[in-house]
Amino acid sequence: MTDTGARCVCGRIDVHAHFLPEVYAQALERAGMRTLDGGFPVPKWSAEAALGVMDRQDIATAMVSLSSPSTHFLPPAERPALARAVNDAGAALVQARPDRFGYFACLPMPDIEASLAEIRRAFDELGADGVVLQTNTDGVYLGSPAFAPILAELNRRKTTLFLHPTSPACFGALALGRPAPLLEFPLDTTRTIVDLLYSRRLQTNPASMTPISLRLRHRSRKRNSTRKSWEGPMTAFPYQQIILNLRGLGLSCAFGDLTDSFLH
Ligand SMILES: [Zn+2]
Repeated sequence: MTDTGARCVCGRIDVHAHFLPEVYAQALERAGMRTLDGGFPVPKWSAEAALGVMDRQDIATAMVSLSSPSTHFLPPAERPALARAVNDAGAALVQARPDRFGYFACLPMPDIEASLAEIRRAFDELGADGVVLQTNTDGVYLGSPAFAPILAELNRRKTTLFLHPTSPACFGALALGRPAPLLEFPLDTTRTIVDLLYSRRLQTNPASMTPISLRLRHRSRKRNSTRKSWEGPMTAFPYQQIILNLRGLGLSCAFGDLTDSFLH
């Protein structure tokens, strides 16, 4: 229902929705992770429960992705296997309900070769809708020359990039004792955008960096699915992420109209 009580018939799409497939929940548990980044207890997740929330909120389609810390809680050498398993789970979810879910593949950053291989697999084999990257990987930001091959490949493929905030490496010294989403998530988003701008990665990789377009029409046709066909353009970051964080702080009135224009 909308604020006015009328039922929304606009085919609302939630581009910031997370999933926790069983393989990921088990990996968190093995690593002793009781909370996700931000201090929230690791929630139970299931497709059925997610669909229930979506139905109650009039959300037609949810584009699921891993939240922070993605695979970054593991040693780098162990990240590729978990990223592959999570992306397989995302593909299975979409295959089961192509009318309700899409997904953004995670990459085993900072391993460049493994990340490039996972980009190929995600798009050429699994049919991912885009890629989710955290704002930094082990303290390295997206403007780093080390990550240039990743951004170049995403740009070459005109891939949707969903940027998700994570805590900075120096979180403990900066966060004023507050949870990460309050202060450091929007600031880390700003930090990586500034790094992208001043390294000129945005200017040299424009296709996947400015305004983001989700192109689901292709996949609907290819898979002959019942997914609602639609296409962008939809500016999804950085403003969306910052606004969503502000909305999380109770500032929805001031930013409601603007937020809606990003989400629809
Ligand atoms: Zn999130």
